[in-house]
Amino acid sequence: MLKLPGLIDPHVHVREPGQTHKEDWDTVTQAALAGGVTMVLAMPNTKPPIFDEATLNLALTSAKQKARCDYAQFLGAGPDNADKVAALADKAAGLKMYLDSTFGELRLDDMTLWMPHFANFPKSAPIVLHSESRTMAAGILFAAIYDRPVHIAHVSLKEEILLIKAAKEKGIKVTCEVCPHHLFLTAESPSPSGRGARGEGESSGRREVRPRLATKEDVEALWQNLDVFDCFATDHAPHTLEEKDSENPPPGFPGLETLLPLLLTAVDDGRLTIDDVIQKSVVNPRKIFNLPEQPETWIEVDETAEYEIKAANQFTRCGWTPFEGWKVKGKVRKVVLRGKTAFEDGKILAEQGYGMNVR
Ligand SMILES: [Zn+2]
Repeated sequence: MLKLPGLIDPHVHVREPGQTHKEDWDTVTQAALAGGVTMVLAMPNTKPPIFDEATLNLALTSAKQKARCDYAQFLGAGPDNADKVAALADKAAGLKMYLDSTFGELRLDDMTLWMPHFANFPKSAPIVLHSESRTMAAGILFAAIYDRPVHIAHVSLKEEILLIKAAKEKGIKVTCEVCPHHLFLTAESPSPSGRGARGEGESSGRREVRPRLATKEDVEALWQNLDVFDCFATDHAPHTLEEKDSENPPPGFPGLETLLPLLLTAVDDGRLTIDDVIQKSVVNPRKIFNLPEQPETWIEVDETAEYEIKAANQFTRCGWTPFEGWKVKGKVRKVVLRGKTAFEDGKILAEQGYGMNVR
């Protein structure tokens, strides 16, 4: 039995408030615990989005009642809320800025709308950018100009990781994360490692995710530059199967329960080390997002257990996984969170409301 610290997932879409038919603070934190994750950082693009004091309180009230693992909530950057979110910085996981296309209150149409956020948000508090390709280059330039840290979410392209590597070498304060689906799936084939099997009748909607699945060459570049990545993050973004198989499938994959089995299988394959997992899922996210240590918290993993990933065994409400049928090695047996057994042998034992806001 392998004993590891509780994992931190810095990129989770809880779907509450507003879309609790996909997920809520109860089910998402069950999925987290079952996956060996003891702390989640929640993204702000809910309905309504979390972008001021009232909406932050809305999310935190639900979280307080329902969460079974520890958490913090991101604020979203909008066109006219830079002062408001800066004043709330110490109550939030950080500020999320959607620099590529997004809609509604978090839409930032041009770079003049980025400026007040970079100028006002405390330098000690994290700014996370959704920024793809050349937009990422602009985001990194902002980090240099304003001399403050930025964290780049879900890097998926060769050009992106090479740019971040170059920026780090110049001393620009940039960190970044990679999602398992960008490491294990490509645009050409859902099972590049050869360990998986494509699901029966899988629709194209089930492959929709942003950033999109990349080419084999991109994926190889991510693996070759793994040391440039600071964190693993799931970008857990659940939608129901009905939605994914519809005419207009929304982008996003669930990921909390497949993160650790996929990483441990890569360890078994010699593509990663256990120390990589600890650094990128515990040590670095704690440092980048100023997160407290969780006392008396650990997970126990049977690293020899081989099995197939099955959505039917998962706790997420969305009812599917892009890794259905994949053969993996490494199963979470037990999760202890702040001295209490929160998960054991497939059963959630932590009650709703046990989770703490780490801010
Ligand atoms: Zn996301």
